[in-house]
Parts: sequence; structure tokens; C-alpha cells
Amino acid sequence: MLKQIVPNKLCLSCDICCRFLDKNAPLAPLFLPHEITPKIKHHLGKSCRVKLKPWQDMHTCPFFNARNHRCAIYPKRPFDCQLYPFTIMFDEKRENIILGIDKKCPFSANTQNEPFIKNYFHYLVDLLEKKEAATLIAKNPLFIGNFQNDVIQFSHLDTLTKLIINNPEKNGFKQISLKDKDTFDNFFKKIQSADSSQNFVNLYIWKEKNPVWWKESNKGPEILLETDSGYINFDSLKKFPDYVYLREELAKLKGNKYKHKRSSCNYFSKNYKFQYLTYKQNMKNDCLKLFSKWASERKKKFPDPYYHKLLEDSFSAHKLAIENYKVLGLIGRVIKIRGKICAYTFGFPLPFGERVRVRGNMFCVLLEVCNLKYKGISEFIFREFSREINQYKYINAMDDSGLENLRISKLSYHPLAHL
Ligand code: SF4
Ligand code: SF4
Repeated sequence: MLKQIVPNKLCLSCDICCRFLDKNAPLAPLFLPHEITPKIKHHLGKSCRVKLKPWQDMHTCPFFNARNHRCAIYPKRPFDCQLYPFTIMFDEKRENIILGIDKKCPFSANTQNEPFIKNYFHYLVDLLEKKEAATLIAKNPLFIGNFQNDVIQFSHLDTLTKLIINNPEKNGFKQISLKDKDTFDNFFKKIQSADSSQNFVNLYIWKEKNPVWWKESNKGPEILLETDSGYINFDSLKKFPDYVYLREELAKLKGNKYKHKRSSCNYFSKNYKFQYLTYKQNMKNDCLKLFSKWASERKKKFPDPYYHKLLEDSFSAHKLAIENYKVLGLIGRVIKIRGKICAYTFGFPLPFGERVRVRGNMFCVLLEVCNLKYKGISEFIFREFSREINQYKYINAMDDSGLENLRISKLSYHPLAHL
């Protein structure tokens, strides 16, 4: 429920709301899908607006009692009614969606310049700019009214404008799907980038956080990422540099610089009875349970809220990768201790070549999750995986997302380059 701003006393003595001149008034209240109960449904027309009923020379909302001016569903009245006299509408050229206040309401006429009204506007803008609210309204575009001269405009609603007016679907873009893999693979093969983000796998598994829209162009797929701050062209996306290693170094862990990694691996292999196995689809649920446990332990250890958000967003990425590992061309390995999955890792080959500083072939380690109560398990699974993929010269462990704990961990393996 929205905070009530118009005093009840004023509404009870006013005869503007809930009554309409025309039987088919376009501003009759609209119910959003989650607001419709069986009792309410009975009073709604096709577009989920109430069916107005005749009363004297006007028409009223079926929930309105004209004798006492009361709404029969007041505590559960629709968002549309809660919002009024504030209103969401298109601007005159239909280029923006704006929030304003309707001058027809006597409350707005008397208070439009008061600081508390401005504060209330800010409260509404904050709420309506949230992605969940904007997405809900975008899915019910009838909620957005046509331009009205007698509405005092307060602010553009940018998120809603992006979803409704700049919606990429209207410009021929479509959302990425597994069927698009070949198109993207062929395109990225031509680029031959060593950048771990330049591939279908990373675009696809992060699509819950940043939906990916694309369309064909004569230069290859034109890609837009939907972010909290709007649609961003994939080509102009700034990312953190990747950590690249010589695979042989990670497989052998030779010399003083890898002393601690070596001893962690030795500790693990000497102290635990384990199996290092190829991932199979029936291991999916156990891997996802392990992810949840691992993420909650990481959250306790590292208080950085940005890292917490990354961990939350990572669940869907891991889920999509694990569920679709075959189609995505991922190689997966797990470690079981006493029959229980205690670690998993997944990766895939990256196409790259002439246009980058490091030459040769490269494997990207995409995911690694471990139950850290087993000392040395993380170092062990990384070394075993590096040993196994011996046809690759380089390993790309992706970027650190600007996080100190990831930076320290990735640097501890002595990257060859920070691309
Ligand atoms: S027009 Fe304004 S004052 Fe009158 S009932 Fe509606 S919200 Fe209340
Ligand atoms: S639902 Fe209630 S507040 Fe909304 S128009 Fe009907 S009677 Fe008025």
C-alpha cells in the first residue's frame, strides 16, 4: 500500500473520485493482475478496468457507495486508486513517461507547491523507478495514461520509459536463447578475443541478471545488455581485466612461488578419501546445494555488500551453466568425499589469436565452488583440472569484479598477464 497523502476528511467531502461522466471513461480504475480476486473479477471488463454502473446522471465505480462516499474495498483498493491524484502518463510527444499530479483533485490544486508534496513525489519516483515496479507497470501498459493538459508534470520515469518506449523488442531485438549459440560462436571465433566475456557462455549464464537482447547486423550480432541503469551496447561495456596463467605452471605448481599451493594440495590428497569425477546431470541438485552453502559462508567471511550482491546474482548463473552444460560445451568436474559432492568446477575453450598480446590456445575456468571445511580442496580441484586440460597453453580465470578478496586469490596463482 502507498502512503496515504490526501486527508480522508477531504476525500469524504469531495465528489470527484470514483464517479465518471462517461460509462466508458478511460480513467476508470484499472486492476493489476495480482490485485484481482474472484469477488473483484466479477466487476471488471476485458481490460481489467471496472465496469462502471449508472448513478443519477453519472457513472460510479461498483465499489463506491454514493450515499456515504465510501469505498467498499478501501484497504484493498487497487494501486491505481492509491496513486491518485498522482498519475503516470505519456508526455505530449509520447517520448517519455512522466509522473504528475492531476489538477482536477482539489487537494493538488491547493498544495502543489508545498514541500511535503515534493517529498511525496520523490517517494513515488523512488518506488516507481525500482525495476520490479517498473516491470510490473510495463507489463500492464494500460496503466499509463495518455497526456492530459491538466496534469502538473513532476518527473520523468526513466526506467519505465526505457521499458516501454525504448523497448528493444520494438526495434527488432530479441532475447538470447540457447538456439543462438552457433551464431554467437561463429561471430566470436572471428574476433578471437582472449577476453572471457566475449563468448556466448558468459552472456547466456548471466542473462537473469543482465538480460541479453540481440539482432543480426552486417557486422555480426548487435548486442544490448539490460542493466539497472538502462540498455548498454555490449561493445561499449567496460569490464575488469582477466587473469591469465600458463596452464603448465598451475598443473605442476613448481618452485618457491607455489610452495603454499603445493602444500595445500598435498594436505588435501593425504587427509581425505575423495573421488575426482566427471560431472553428470544427476549431480545438479547437489552442486546447487553446495553453491548455497558456499555462498552463505563467503557472505559471513566477507562483509562487502557488493560481494554479497554478486554472490546472490551468481546463483542463477551457476544454475543456468550447470543445467545446460552440454549445450554450452562446458567441461565439468566434481570432488566427492564419502559419496557427497564437496567441490565442482566448470570451464570451456576460449577462441583467441592474433589480435591479443598472449598467443596460443586458452581455456576459461568459469566456475569453481568448494566446501571449504576440507582444507586444500580449492587448490586441489584447480590443479587437477589444470592437469587434465593439457591441450591448452593458457588458463583464463576471468576477472575479479573489482573485489579485493578475488584479486588476492587470483594474484596468488601468479598470473602471466592481466588482460
Ligand atoms: S479528487 Fe482528490 S480529494 Fe477528491 S476524492 Fe479524489 S483524491 Fe480525494
Ligand atoms: S476502487 Fe474504491 S477508491 Fe477506487 S474508484 Fe472504486 S470506489 Fe473509488
